[in-house]
Amino acid sequence: MSANAPGAAEQDTFRSTDPASGELVGVFPVQDAAAVEAAVARARVAAEAWAALGFGERRLRLAAYRGYLARRMNELADLVHRENGKPHDDAVLEITLAIDHLAWAGAHAARTLRLRRVAPGLLAANHAAYLEYQPLGVVGVIGPWNYPVFTPMGSIAYALAAGNAVVFKPSEHTPAVGAWLARAWQAAVPDCPDALQAVTGLGETGAALCRAGVDKVAFTGSAPTGRRVMAACAQTLTPVLMELGGKDAMIVDDDADVAAAANAAVWGAMSNAGQTCIGIERVYATSAVYDAFVREVTEQVAGLRPGSGPGAAYGPMTMASQTDVVRRHTDDALADGGTAALGGPVPGTQAHGNVIAPAVLLDVPESSAAVREETFGPTITITRVADAEEGLARANATSYGLAGSVFAGSRSRGLSLARRMRSGMTSVNSVLTFASVPALPFGGVGESGFGRIHGADGLKEFTRAKAVTRQRFPLPVDLMSFRRPASAAPALARVIGVVHGRHR
Ligand code: NDP
Repeated sequence: MSANAPGAAEQDTFRSTDPASGELVGVFPVQDAAAVEAAVARARVAAEAWAALGFGERRLRLAAYRGYLARRMNELADLVHRENGKPHDDAVLEITLAIDHLAWAGAHAARTLRLRRVAPGLLAANHAAYLEYQPLGVVGVIGPWNYPVFTPMGSIAYALAAGNAVVFKPSEHTPAVGAWLARAWQAAVPDCPDALQAVTGLGETGAALCRAGVDKVAFTGSAPTGRRVMAACAQTLTPVLMELGGKDAMIVDDDADVAAAANAAVWGAMSNAGQTCIGIERVYATSAVYDAFVREVTEQVAGLRPGSGPGAAYGPMTMASQTDVVRRHTDDALADGGTAALGGPVPGTQAHGNVIAPAVLLDVPESSAAVREETFGPTITITRVADAEEGLARANATSYGLAGSVFAGSRSRGLSLARRMRSGMTSVNSVLTFASVPALPFGGVGESGFGRIHGADGLKEFTRAKAVTRQRFPLPVDLMSFRRPASAAPALARVIGVVHGRHR
């Protein structure tokens, strides 16, 4: 049970607090199964009206929503800062990304999903064939706390643009942000207010959403909870989208721009206190650049000042319990034979309160938890490899596969390494860039999940493909009839033999 869980005296509400100060941010209802079902029932009615609006009208309303978010960006960023702990400017960056995705989803839904004709093929040449992507109905979105605007919006924006209504269960650590996003929708789109609703509560509220008869669950969170969500959804064959954790790697090749790679690695590892699913947690640097890279990273990290005041590089851990995981990984790394270029047990650099000082860990054995498990903290491991191919092999030797980064001077080499990285997304000569390209799909492989948000794939994720054929004129011989002549099948076999039989 988390720090925010209700005490015995307050059975049906829970508190959200500022992770830096412990101050109260808000008190929210713990919505039970009946409340969640009621929200889904309202959403079901709204879904019909929302779908009936069509692409053009929905696009206008999605634009009104993003306009609302853009005009109140500072208010929302302040709330994100207070509830999640990240610096205000990083909250602004997160909201900006979410607005950009809303714009893209609204603008591209029609051309991606609308009714189109496809070639009917040889056997149905007398038919017209149509394909369209229809909304599913009501989508349940279960989100995490680390990017409480950007991450759920990756599902919400695309599900809405595709014509679905959404019931959103924010994390118990960021309910105020979730409730704010739903209220903003209701203010910006007053003629379809129930197309986006938030339900608040703890894990059980999320579990209730899985059982509430929604048409899909878009889950973002950890793999263990993802398994529970899948098990619950299996009961009703409710489809799921799984956006799970990662252990993303960066490869730094011989000819890489070392200073640029170090700058990107430090941001990728330390921003948001390392609580980033696509954060860089491991670096494999070739022998040719290793010393210079470690020097550069250490110098940059030494200048980072975490905290909650102005100028803080990153904030406190959002969940107090995460500090124990980070400490265990750091301790294990050193016990297993790694060394700390920065951080670790050096006095004055260890965690104080929920704020964790950054750690740069060198040559930690691959078997160590700091290399194998998601740390989700401001730490980075840097390992020397003979060449980029060894780096790639090590990067891929993980059960996760969310994203990653390659730094290489040669364009073709960078692209080749990126394409062979076993992950859903890879940035060459930068970090995390794919997340800010709305046209690109986002999602993992292996323990990092399946399904895609963002881009055309993200729109299609919240639809079902519908196929229709229409006979334009009858053929003299109808092959799918008990009245077809005995000569029809042999004649067909001859035609197929001529068309396909020549291929060897
Ligand atoms: P959790 O798995 O703990 O929780 C995720 C969400 O699931 C929360 O809203 C949680 O509610 C809810 N939940 C908990 N129990 C259940 C249940 N039985 N049924 C349904 N829902 C439930 O993850 P975190 O919030 O700690 O998020 C961090 C994880 O998310 C990391 O592993 C990170 O890598 C991953 N992540 C993945 C991203 C991606 O796009 N691939 C993006 C961002 C994060 P409550 O909080 O109220 O318990």
